[in-house]
Amino acid sequence: MEVRKTDNTCIDLGDKCVHCKQDTSFGSGRFVNRYPVFGLDPDMSGIEYDGYCCDECEQEWIKENES
Ligand SMILES: [Zn+2]
Repeated sequence: MEVRKTDNTCIDLGDKCVHCKQDTSFGSGRFVNRYPVFGLDPDMSGIEYDGYCCDECEQEWIKENES
């Protein structure tokens, strides 16, 4: 099997949400229910983000994906 090396850029957002780019650190108001995200490419641009997903974006995602 051929293993292709990806040249994707990975940006470390630290405590920021990978979706809304808001700070999710303790005391920011978005700390509760955040969860870590690694290598997310939200718009298929080849740029991956490491960071967190805040609860607000999680709830948005759930709303959009339930039918
Ligand atoms: Zn968010």
